[in-house]
Amino acid sequence: YPLRRQRQMCIRDRSKIIEENPMPIEKNQVVLFHYSVRDEQDNAVEDSHGGEPNAYLHGHGGIIKGLEEALEGRDAGDTFSVTVTPDKAYGPRKPDAIQRVPIKHLMGAKRWKAGMVAQVQTEQGPRHVVVAKVGHKFADVDTNHPMAGRTLTFDIEVIDVRAATSEEIAHGHAHGPGGHHH
Ligand code: ZN
Repeated sequence: YPLRRQRQMCIRDRSKIIEENPMPIEKNQVVLFHYSVRDEQDNAVEDSHGGEPNAYLHGHGGIIKGLEEALEGRDAGDTFSVTVTPDKAYGPRKPDAIQRVPIKHLMGAKRWKAGMVAQVQTEQGPRHVVVAKVGHKFADVDTNHPMAGRTLTFDIEVIDVRAATSEEIAHGHAHGPGGHHH
């Protein structure tokens, strides 16, 4: 599997590769990275280790702003932590974002209770909401992004940096492992 082989090679000969072929992250490069995220109380929120690394096209807003800024200029093999405030992550919480929806429109579980994350279909496509209150046939859901208003700390490991193809630049996202498949 080409990605795996490349990763092992990077780890073994990292200093040599970087010396011969430095490629600090800049616009129109595809970056592969692993991350784990924790919130203000140090609770683990998400972790990509154990799956494929995440791939994105740098400079196109494909990941949250604070993370993209922190990745600028880094190299394959770099590890670092960055704390991102809501204005550079998922925005502030809007207090007026509670909506009443039929329970049958909630996707992701059979029984619902407050605090669970559901998926709903909207005109802009599928969206995650947090269940605020469950009634008989209707539920109140908070349409804020589940991470809105949160200050998040990311631990990042840059796995690989490569030039994007012209097709990736035209699409505005990365293709292949960890990116878009189409
Ligand atoms: Zn594409």
